[in-house]
Amino acid sequence: MSVITVNCPYCAAVRSLPAPQDYSPFYVDCDRCSERFIVEPVQNGTMVYRDGEAPCCSDPECRATEMGDAGQD
Ligand SMILES: [Zn+2]
Repeated sequence: MSVITVNCPYCAAVRSLPAPQDYSPFYVDCDRCSERFIVEPVQNGTMVYRDGEAPCCSDPECRATEMGDAGQD
């Protein structure tokens, strides 16, 4: 099984993850600092965002909100 490695954007800890099967962003909880961050697989690697700093299309919760709750202000 292939594995990707990412760096926590808060404490820079290296984290190994199973290689994603698609390009959907997902949350990761850091083992070292317990912060949650977002990993988004992209064509040439991975993007990492702090929770709340990702653009909506790269934020799992924002995507869910947009799809499930359109029209709410
Ligand atoms: Zn961390």
